Amino acid sequence: MIQIAIDGPSGAGKSTVAKALAKKMGIVYVDTGALYRTVGYYVRSQSKDPKNAAEVEALLPSVKVELKYENGVQKVYLNGEDLGDRIRTPEMSMYASAVSAIPAVRAFLLETQRKIARENSVVMDGRDIGTVILPNADVKIFLTASDECRAQRRCDELRAKGIETTVEEVLADMRERDANDRNRAVAPAVAAPDAIPFDNSGMTPDECTDGIIALIRERVGGDV
Ligand code: C5P
Repeated sequence: MIQIAIDGPSGAGKSTVAKALAKKMGIVYVDTGALYRTVGYYVRSQSKDPKNAAEVEALLPSVKVELKYENGVQKVYLNGEDLGDRIRTPEMSMYASAVSAIPAVRAFLLETQRKIARENSVVMDGRDIGTVILPNADVKIFLTASDECRAQRRCDELRAKGIETTVEEVLADMRERDANDRNRAVAPAVAAPDAIPFDNSGMTPDECTDGIIALIRERVGGDV
């Protein structure tokens, strides 16, 4: 069993690299941001304030979040329903970031994440994987890129999904969300002391993946 943790700010390319690694290594990819997005989606559907800890906490007993894998692709179910791309909008990014600062939400999602890593070899991406969820992960990577580069990538991604936006708008949202994530009191989005920093500004996804595979080989050797 192997555990690979990939943390870093939004738009750094974590999911692209993590998916490629999972495929190459034949292990499970876990997108933990989808769990927070799903809780955010529920809070929105109940017309509650995602920043109000008491209101959000009161909703948690009626939330069931399940991670399932269909043909190797992660699906997150909310009370039995697959939400698909409905959790991928800029609005849901902000809802996810707001609810993720609430300690009860983090505690609520902790076991779902640890359980999957107990039962499978995983590459898990998020914000606190190396610091909180899998502190003993075999390899921890902290992936970053320049703000402009990350905003351009996120903008391209959203446009490809038919969501009209501009780089300026994405950059402003991204900076707000990253600041929330970095400065929150609980599980702030910072690198674990033993994480390897990797800046992929200007790299293609393949170059980044190859660079990270080389790092993993250095750490764990073997046939990665
Ligand atoms: O990675 P993604 O952009 O989907 O994450 C959405 C939000 O969920 C992040 O901005 C962050 O606030 C929160 N998150 C978190 N911890 C994780 C993964 C995501 O707090 N492990």
